[in-house]
Amino acid sequence: MNCIHCNSDNVVKCGKFITSNGIVRQRYLCKNCNKKFVVNPIKPKYSEEFKDKIVKAVVKEGMGIRQSSRVFKVSVPTIIKWVKEYKLDEKSKIFRCSLATQAKN
Ligand SMILES: [Zn+2]
Repeated sequence: MNCIHCNSDNVVKCGKFITSNGIVRQRYLCKNCNKKFVVNPIKPKYSEEFKDKIVKAVVKEGMGIRQSSRVFKVSVPTIIKWVKEYKLDEKSKIFRCSLATQAKN
C-alpha cells in the first residue's frame, strides 16, 4: 500500500466511510505527508458538482426534497442520502485523524 500523494508506504488505516452507492470504503492516512486518501475510488454516477448543486439547493436555499427531485431528475432517496452525507461531512471536517490513536483494525 503506497500513498497516492507521495508514494510512501508509511500509511495507516484511518477510518471508514460510506460512498453514495452504500459501499463501505477504507480511508488511509499517510504518515509521511499526513494526507488522507482512498485506494481506487469508485467513479460516482453523478458528478460532485451536480451533487453539490442539489445539496446546496436543499440545505442552503431551502428547496424541498420532492421539488428538487422533480427539477434535477434525481430520486428522493438519493437526495436524502446526499443531504445526510453533506451533513456528516460538515461534522467530519472538525474531526481529525490522530496519529497517536491509530487502531490496527
Ligand atoms: Zn504521502
